[in-house]
Amino acid sequence: MKIIISEIPKEGLDVKLKEKVESENISSTVIAQLRIEKLEIEVIVSGDLAAEVKLECSRCLKDFNSKLMIPVNVVYHPVEELKGEDNYEVRHEELDMDFYSGEELNLSNLLKEQLMLNMPMKPLCADLCKGICPVCGKDLNIDKCTCTITKTDPRFEGLKKLLK
Ligand SMILES: [Zn+2]
Ligand SMILES: [Zn+2]
Repeated sequence: MKIIISEIPKEGLDVKLKEKVESENISSTVIAQLRIEKLEIEVIVSGDLAAEVKLECSRCLKDFNSKLMIPVNVVYHPVEELKGEDNYEVRHEELDMDFYSGEELNLSNLLKEQLMLNMPMKPLCADLCKGICPVCGKDLNIDKCTCTITKTDPRFEGLKKLLK
């Protein structure tokens, strides 16, 4: 979805959109609720994105679906503003900054960028995911393997059985 910047009314624009975002490792439908305001030559986009993404658990390598909620706060400056200015000052340090060129603001790009920035680095299918045994490769969430037994003191084996 694209917004014509000159058509943004003084009181701002509320936009609800649902778009599919596809890139190398993301395929997701993003639902966005955004407020778009124009402040002289700057365009401020704020709101929230909700996206369901498919992730691979960094411990057990299983695919799982996860819901991401991403707050958005981006100030767009015209790219022309950069030209001819040696020391460009960022006035809105608390906000993300981006640039638009020409008359349009591409919200599809915004969704994609925000989603890529907020993809978890080390996703876990569950906080307590036990992962994969580094010795035999068994998924320890499903089954225990014999490799772990070698680490425990054999004298406690009898006791462990009693506790079960
Ligand atoms: Zn896992
Ligand atoms: Zn094992």
